[in-house]
Amino acid sequence: MTFSIHGLVVSRGIAIGRAVLMVSSRPDVAHYFIEPTQVSSEVMRVREGRNAVVDEIHRLQLSMGHKGPKETSHELSALLDVHLLLLQDEELERGVKYWITDRLYNAEWALTTQFEVIARQFDEIEDDYLRERKADLEQITEKVLRAMHGAPAPVAPDPKHDRRKHSRQPIVRNNADALSLILVAHDLSPTDMLQFKNSVFAGFVTDVGGKTSHTAIVARSLDVPAVVGLRLCSQLVHQDDIVIIDGDAGVVMVDPSPILLAEYKYKQSQGELNRDRLLRLLPNVAITLDGQKIELLANIEVPEDAMNAVQAGAMGVGLFRSEFLFMGRLGKVPNEEEQYQAYRRAIEGMQGLPVTIRTVDIGADKPLDDRLRDDAHLNPALGLRAIRWSLADPAMFLTQIRAILRAAAHGPTQLLIPMLVHASEIRQTMALIDHARVQLDHLGMAYGTVKVGAMIEIPAAALTLNVFLKYFDFLSIGTNDLIQYTLAIDRADESVAHLYDPMHPAVLRLVANTIAQACACGKPVSVCGEMAGDPTMTRLLLGMGLRSFSMHPAQILSVKYEILRADAGKLRPWAERIVAEDEPAPRNARQA
Ligand code: PEP
Ligand code: MG
Repeated sequence: MTFSIHGLVVSRGIAIGRAVLMVSSRPDVAHYFIEPTQVSSEVMRVREGRNAVVDEIHRLQLSMGHKGPKETSHELSALLDVHLLLLQDEELERGVKYWITDRLYNAEWALTTQFEVIARQFDEIEDDYLRERKADLEQITEKVLRAMHGAPAPVAPDPKHDRRKHSRQPIVRNNADALSLILVAHDLSPTDMLQFKNSVFAGFVTDVGGKTSHTAIVARSLDVPAVVGLRLCSQLVHQDDIVIIDGDAGVVMVDPSPILLAEYKYKQSQGELNRDRLLRLLPNVAITLDGQKIELLANIEVPEDAMNAVQAGAMGVGLFRSEFLFMGRLGKVPNEEEQYQAYRRAIEGMQGLPVTIRTVDIGADKPLDDRLRDDAHLNPALGLRAIRWSLADPAMFLTQIRAILRAAAHGPTQLLIPMLVHASEIRQTMALIDHARVQLDHLGMAYGTVKVGAMIEIPAAALTLNVFLKYFDFLSIGTNDLIQYTLAIDRADESVAHLYDPMHPAVLRLVANTIAQACACGKPVSVCGEMAGDPTMTRLLLGMGLRSFSMHPAQILSVKYEILRADAGKLRPWAERIVAEDEPAPRNARQA
């Protein structure tokens, strides 16, 4: 039966595919398609992994016979019996074989998929004892995965070849599987998303998350349709259900009728046509009708994104979120050499175009490691995040600054500092940058010159702009956080997402005022929050006087399209009127 679930628009476009459920979110498990010739060796890998765990349990049971109090060993032995039964369960074996043989999933992916299928059945059992066996199933799956790690995995094909990046065509692997795959999860952290960057998934849907949560931002950067905040989606959708993601409307349709399917296939092909049309704008310079040249920059998360930025026609990187180098490493931060190499790769990848590297912004919904999430602090968004975290650990911060300064010797580079509020923080930061230069001088290491800029993303910073203009070479407005902190709306919380309003007059006034003051001082200013990549906001920002926009590479052409049709001079009085309004009208009504 067809049903639809409504969530939040995150990444536009239509995706149609089979659901791959990831209720327990396993980004650590590799997902790739194998070649038909690898089927038997993959089946064998699971079998060997399972046999190794069975042997281990037998050994344990034997050793228990000799030691330990009798009652405990009885209990444990019974538990191990359950594990043995589950391991030898035919449904597990049959299912895993099916995913490998028919769908050409790699061994680990097949095992975890079958785990999800059986776990669902356990969830539906009324008997408490039996329902709780799901935990045992999870444990043995984990053990088999670990045992399989000892066995060599076939080389995964280069995922970049799989992704058909610009065409979004279904990945057709065999006749039985002529549909793309849609990842359905309760939650995905920004690091999880990063792992899926070159994956086989044609779309993502999650139960939780806000529109500008970092998970949503990374989903957008993948340039595949995504909807978040779908509440119970991961419970309502079953493994292998046919799912349509309408990324433009923020709706997910499950088990669609043939008519609905045909309609969305048509919409999907129209979307492809529009994308092809936009591609024709690639060689055009972004210039308004009245001759204002606009700088279109890229936001990137990893050095390898530089290639996408260049291909999309970006004039540089306006925001390199360096924290993604720090995340998902069990709290172990990268050393200077590793960071230097990563920044250097990004700078060289931009082939002489400028790269703005933001110092690490860890905290809130970007923990160093998901497993080390700090639940002790009730309001992590107001806690030790970004520059506060850096200043709390000067040695770590100096390491990052040295790495950036050294990388700057390889191409034009700017340094951007997130979440500053106090003049004292600014002075501390500047002193540490000077100190890093002195350290490099002492070491006799080469480094480049960098301009230093500040993110304006807290209302307090926007309201004391004169202090920032005194110290910094340029400003970059982080509208994602500026909205969050101005309206007191957690950007990652879907339950208040309807109140997260980029058009709130308080937000617009802070943005307009920051642009105006920076322009009056002759200091470069850009917007690097999601507002910059939203084509419905382009004319308003142009009218406010903005001439530099930084966004995900995939958004550049849609924004360029708006710029080419706009007259910046005529937009100014209209934008002034909008900013002065008490209650902004719906977005489309405000297009001048
Ligand atoms: C912002 O806050 O707008 C921004 C660009 O930074 P981030 O989204 O990484 O917090
Ligand atoms: Mg921010």
